[in-house]
Amino acid sequence: MRRPLKIAHCIDHSARARCEDRFTLLLPVRETAGKNPLKKNEENKKLCQFSSSIPAKHITDFSFPMAPEPRYDDFLPSDKQSFVPSAELVARHQSLKWRNICGIALVHIWGMYGLWYGLQTIKWSALLFIIAYGWAGGLGVTAGAHRLWSHRSYRAKWQLRVILAAFFYAAGLTTIHDWVRDHRVHHKFVDTSADPHDINRGFFFAHCGWIMTGKHPMVIQQGRKLDMEDILRDKVVSWCDENFYFMKMFFCFALPTLILRYVFDEPWWLCVGTNMVRYMISLNGVWSVNSVAHYFGGHPYDKNIRPAENWFVTACALGEGWHNYHHVFPFDYSSSEFGFKKNNATTLFINFFSLIGWARDLKTASKEMVQRHAARCGDGTY
Ligand SMILES: [Zn+2]
Ligand SMILES: [Zn+2]
Repeated sequence: MRRPLKIAHCIDHSARARCEDRFTLLLPVRETAGKNPLKKNEENKKLCQFSSSIPAKHITDFSFPMAPEPRYDDFLPSDKQSFVPSAELVARHQSLKWRNICGIALVHIWGMYGLWYGLQTIKWSALLFIIAYGWAGGLGVTAGAHRLWSHRSYRAKWQLRVILAAFFYAAGLTTIHDWVRDHRVHHKFVDTSADPHDINRGFFFAHCGWIMTGKHPMVIQQGRKLDMEDILRDKVVSWCDENFYFMKMFFCFALPTLILRYVFDEPWWLCVGTNMVRYMISLNGVWSVNSVAHYFGGHPYDKNIRPAENWFVTACALGEGWHNYHHVFPFDYSSSEFGFKKNNATTLFINFFSLIGWARDLKTASKEMVQRHAARCGDGTY
């Protein structure tokens, strides 16, 4: 297995701009107006050091800002002043998306029915199959749309990208392009009005309410500004997204239902109901990262942000609950400093494909970097 790259980062404006242009996954950095940016750079350089074992090209490729005590709403006042949303954006923001509301209600009613009656009659083999299918869908989101496409925390051969795209559509969300755009905006403007699932608007809004209403004008504005060229260039993603309805209907609904019917010989009502249970649990697992992991848990790496370390979300979302760490070090392919330990099934999955050569350039934060950041910004529990 290829060893993950150990990366130490140092802030300077050129490195930040370069990285922001390429991946647009950076945390917003405090406005420097009225301050001396050169002095700030010097301060940050003292706080950072490069690992001598890393080739220079890797360091310049993945520079990462380490501004002391970042404050994520600092960008808003100036941005708000210069941004006057159009009447169309305001109207869209205030509207309810009835199609999504009805769809989510239907999935939960059908899912609860399937959960109540299905568990009493379903065969063990069919139950194990649907659990495995649910895990596959989860991995499509965590290892695919999240760690690969949103954060570029590792590289994947086309064969693995095809598998991940199919898995992603099994989870039954939106297109990969839209998921990645929303997630990059979430990281860049976390817990502000420009965050698609801003936790300050309440637990329910961050969980699934944001899908039921129009987007805040700031979310649309910042989403349009993002550089999504890497996603548009990915042929696997482009093909799947162009065939969105076919991909979602086939991998999320038709395939698991037909396998339950013709391989496990279950009655039709049970096939549909069981798949709906899987879909309901999978949706809530993904949503819990935006709600539960932004609400409950400790902040050992950065006490200034809402994302928290949450073991429950980690168990539900295949390793995505170490969310305070993830928001501080979003480039880390493991989304935590514990590797595949502590319920990180997604890391185990990526490690396996790294072993067979389909995943490479796994990036991770160095121990010293994590300790330094935790000592400076953490809540003291690290
Ligand atoms: Zn988050
Ligand atoms: Zn992320």
